[in-house]
Amino acid sequence: MTQFTRRKFIQMVGAGSATAALTACGTSPDTSTKQFGRNVVVIGGGPGGATAAKYLKRFGNDINVTLIEPKATYHTCFGSNWVLGGIAEMADIAQTYGQLQSAYGIKVIADTVTGVDPERNMVTLSNGSTLPYDKLVMSPGIDFREDSAEGYSKAVADKMPHAWQAGPQTELLHRQLQAMPNGGTFIMVAPGNPFRCPPGPYERASMVAHYFKQHKPRSKILILDNKEKFSKQGLFMAGWKELYGDMIEWVPSTRGGQIDRVDADKMTVYSDGGINQFKGDVINFIPRQQAGAIARVSGLTNDTGWCPVNQLTFASNIHPDIHVIGDSSIAGAMPKSGHSANTQGKLVAAAIVRALDGQDPVVPSLTNTCYSLVSPDHGISVAAVYRFDDGSIKGVAGAGGVSPANATKEFRAQEANYARGWYAAITKDSWS
Ligand SMILES: Cc1cc2nc3c(=O)[nH]c(=O)nc-3n(C[C@H](O)[C@H](O)[C@H](O)COP(=O)(O)OP(=O)(O)OC[C@H]3O[C@@H](n4cnc5c(N)ncnc54)[C@H](O)[C@@H]3O)c2cc1C
Repeated sequence: MTQFTRRKFIQMVGAGSATAALTACGTSPDTSTKQFGRNVVVIGGGPGGATAAKYLKRFGNDINVTLIEPKATYHTCFGSNWVLGGIAEMADIAQTYGQLQSAYGIKVIADTVTGVDPERNMVTLSNGSTLPYDKLVMSPGIDFREDSAEGYSKAVADKMPHAWQAGPQTELLHRQLQAMPNGGTFIMVAPGNPFRCPPGPYERASMVAHYFKQHKPRSKILILDNKEKFSKQGLFMAGWKELYGDMIEWVPSTRGGQIDRVDADKMTVYSDGGINQFKGDVINFIPRQQAGAIARVSGLTNDTGWCPVNQLTFASNIHPDIHVIGDSSIAGAMPKSGHSANTQGKLVAAAIVRALDGQDPVVPSLTNTCYSLVSPDHGISVAAVYRFDDGSIKGVAGAGGVSPANATKEFRAQEANYARGWYAAITKDSWS
């Protein structure tokens, strides 16, 4: 068994999650009615896990599905930039699990999984109780890397919030932006690839610019990037120029954007061994990322920090009864996005139901669409179709695409409406 003391696990997942786990673990799971053979446990109630749980029940109603998630309310990262821009509230991005329980008969346990025994097919919860499984789905999202820069530790996020997991961090960054003086500098440090939501940092810069334009028009936004190019770059940069003039400056890695040291007390970040230093009034440091802690302590990651899977079924290459989906997985050409996690949730549900019924998996088509708001009336998008081919998930040539470079204001406004429609659709599909 992958044994892990509760204290050690809590240190690893961080104090915030630990508190949530401790306050939420009042009930012991009822294992008295377990039926071996058709018990599926799902870890994590984000878009990956919630969708997998729901579709397991839709595809195989006789399967016992248990979803384990410490948070009673999950805030989506998608839409969290809109909160920073002042065009949405935290309540607008809140999702709960009541519908999954009442409409689909999924058992939801509010707790944290602290250990997985792949030999005995058993998970251990933070209250010490255990739960058997025939198949396990893991969708624990991301964790941050302490080696992101010299001086970086989890405590830095109290001063320089990442806000890359929605919730208290989003609220902290929001408060800091509201308290920032007009004429101040907002610095965002964007991570290198691979990371959760490739267009996310640039939508965030757009939304903050939208807020500044109305309330603090003399302010600056500096994006210090650990890479040379980014998703939908041409569309973002054209939109920034058109809507915000020179307010947003983007610095790529080879021109001083590669941050190698942070000093949270001095609110300063450094690049090129200290040659360049950047002081901000508000600093949004988005660290490098890796698979969620439970995937790592369960031995499901390789030396990249992410989980290698059979990309036909998302069964782990290391422990085949465990399927890893969403941001934690290595999913070929699919980006780490909520849409990908939702799509993979359906794929894994179908693969598990077929496996429990003794059938071979089908070769699926997968999709991802990512909308970004450059302003509330200016939306842009990228869409792709994927197929499992020759051992991995590959993009289908000629399917999908990005928004046109030259589009009318009406077209951009229509895409902004589609972005809001996408949010409504994906959250309904995942949580209700
Ligand atoms: C600012 C921002 C904007 C974004 N915008 C978009 C967008 O427009 N479109 C899009 O498609 N994607 C977007 N994303 C990306 C999207 O949010 C993620 O890709 C998605 O949330 C991944 O889903 P997941 O299920 O893998 O992980 P998560 O959503 O992180 O869910 C993981 C869940 O697992 C739980 N968990 C972790 N460990 C344990 C454990 N040990 N026991 C029990 N539960 C556990 C956690 O509490 C969490 O609720 C955005 C991300 C950010 C940061």
